[in-house]
Amino acid sequence: MSHTTSREEELAAEIARLKQERPYLDNLFTSFGPMLLLRQRWGQNKREGETTITVDPLRYSSGMTVMQQCPDLLYDDRWHDAGLAVAGAIGYGFCELAGDMDYLTNRIRGGLDCCTLYRSAIELKPEELGRKARETGIQELSLAVFLRCLGRLMLSIKAQEIATELASLTWTKGYCPICGSFPHLAIIRDKGQRWLQCPQCSHEWSFPRMTCPYCEHEEPAGTSYLFVEGKKEEMAFTCERCERYLVTTDQSGNLRRTNADLIALSLAHFDMLVQDKGFQPMAECEWNTFATAD
Ligand SMILES: [Zn+2]
Ligand SMILES: [Zn+2]
Repeated sequence: MSHTTSREEELAAEIARLKQERPYLDNLFTSFGPMLLLRQRWGQNKREGETTITVDPLRYSSGMTVMQQCPDLLYDDRWHDAGLAVAGAIGYGFCELAGDMDYLTNRIRGGLDCCTLYRSAIELKPEELGRKARETGIQELSLAVFLRCLGRLMLSIKAQEIATELASLTWTKGYCPICGSFPHLAIIRDKGQRWLQCPQCSHEWSFPRMTCPYCEHEEPAGTSYLFVEGKKEEMAFTCERCERYLVTTDQSGNLRRTNADLIALSLAHFDMLVQDKGFQPMAECEWNTFATAD
C-alpha cells in the first residue's frame, strides 16, 4: 500500500509545484487536481487479469475500437463506489458545484444507481439532459460534469486493465483504439516517437510524427509545429487541411513519466494561443473549452 500512497503523493507534489511555477493556471489545478488524484488512486487498484476482452484482430486493425466491439465492457460492480468518489472530487475542486455534489452523494447512498443513470444519460440528446438533471434534482451543468468525470474514471480503469491484451495488436488510426476519442495531447518519447494521449480513457498509442491524427493528412505541406518562445519542448502540431491542432510536449530526455493529464492541464495557456490562430482542438476537454471560457 505504501507504493500506492507514494505515487499519489508524488502527483500531489507535482501539482503543487506546477501551481507555483504557473500561477496563471492556479484555478485549473485547484479545480481538476482532485479528479487527477482520484484517477491515480483508482488506477493503482485495478483488477489485474480479471477483465478479458474478445476483440477480433482484423476488425481492430481496420479501425474498429474495443468499445465498438465490446459495448458492455464498462459495466461492472464498481459504479456505486466510483459515483461517490467522483461526486466527492468534483465537490472538492469546484466550490460552485459542491452543493449539488453533496445532494448527489446522499442520493447515491440512498440507492440512486450510477450505472443506470450513466447508461440512460449517454443515449440522450444534449437538449434532453436538462430534463434528466431536473429528475435527478441537480443543475444541468452539475450532471454533465459528473457524468463526464464518472465515465472517464470507469473508462480509464478498463483501459489500464486491458492494455496488455492490446499490446500485440496493430492499430494505425489517429483516434483511440479503446474508446474512439481523438487525442488531446501528444508526447514525444525515446527515438522521437510520438505517443497520442486519449482524454477519455487515458490510453496512449504511437502514431507517425508528421501525419495528422485527425484527418490523416501526411504531406509535410499544410502541417507544422508552433512553438512558444523560450520553451523548446512545448509545441503544437497544426494541420491546415482540417484546421485542428494537437498540443505536444517533447519528453525524450525525461526519464520520469509525468502524468499525461497533468501535462495537458499545464499547457492549457497554449491551447488559447493556438485557438487564437484559428485552429480547433482535436478533442474538446474541460480545460480547453469549458474551463478557459471565462
Ligand atoms: Zn480512449
Ligand atoms: Zn488534419
